[in-house]
Amino acid sequence: MPPPDRRAGDVATMKGGARLLDGRGLAAARRAALKQKIAHARAAHGLAPKLAVVLVGDDAASAVYVRNKQKACAEVGIATMQAHLPSATSEAALLSAIEAHNRDAAVHGILVQFPLPPHIAPARVMAAIAPDKDVDGLHPLNQARLMTGVAGLRPCTPQGCVLLAREVESSLRGLHAVIVGRSLLVGKPLAHLLLQENCTVSLAHSHTRDLPALAAQADLLVAACGRARFVQGAWIKPDAIVIDVGINRVAGRLVGDVDEAAAERARALTPVPGGVGPMTVACLLDNVFAAAKRQAGLAEV
Ligand code: NDP
Repeated sequence: MPPPDRRAGDVATMKGGARLLDGRGLAAARRAALKQKIAHARAAHGLAPKLAVVLVGDDAASAVYVRNKQKACAEVGIATMQAHLPSATSEAALLSAIEAHNRDAAVHGILVQFPLPPHIAPARVMAAIAPDKDVDGLHPLNQARLMTGVAGLRPCTPQGCVLLAREVESSLRGLHAVIVGRSLLVGKPLAHLLLQENCTVSLAHSHTRDLPALAAQADLLVAACGRARFVQGAWIKPDAIVIDVGINRVAGRLVGDVDEAAAERARALTPVPGGVGPMTVACLLDNVFAAAKRQAGLAEV
């Protein structure tokens, strides 16, 4: 018998036995809703949200990500300004560029695209961004706010993962969530967000013993380890929700961290591309608007 959340209308987006979670469609709906909110805030309060984007060096993938984010901003009515700094930029020069944005009252959000050249310490960069403009949610204060359950800007990819999982189960309460990967960007903040959803969370990493056995217990499995097709179909608990964060380029194609055979056992699965990626951008836009409102004294973030 199909699980109760599987509807006849989902058939068009099935793969194997799994419902494909359409991150593109969900992100488009969020952008449309946000566009209306921004138009209203502009008309009612003169609010003009603005994001400053800082790109250092010539990483081709980073340039594409930045372009996509700026395009998405334009679509919803968020202004952007971009500083493209050479890869030889010193850490001090980057920190002073960030400080200028911190002081600029017209800028509500600051995004420094990672990865940075190896001579620049990411932690110092994260800590340099004013916490209320930290739309990536990586400043130590925002990490602490997340851990303690206080309102603040949350990292975008983990937010996107939660929203996608909640498309399948409106409440994630009581689910055993297994996250493969413990990075500061994805795994760790996602663990806290899922704890706030009342999941029981296991955070796996490269030293985890018997990962297949742990993964097999997951009602919600999130793969964020950056290894192409690493999570095997046979590891998946039947009817699990599988969120694939991975973006790996293999033979000119983008593939996730989950093997495609997972679709035979999962109840729902995110595609790569078209799953978590678009939701990450949508959550970034939400963060910029939330930051702008807060700075204008219109609402708490
Ligand atoms: P990191 O490289 O920072 O972290 C990878 C994590 O995976 C580490 O915690 C590492 O463990 C763990 N890991 C590596 N190998 C194994 C293994 N064999 N078994 C178990 N765990 C393992 O990656 P990110 O978190 O930045 O990104 C992960 C993936 O998500 C990448 O493919 C990235 O491109 C993608 N990504 C996608 C985004 C999107 O919007 N869709 C946004 C951000 C990232 P340990 O800590 O022990 O080293």
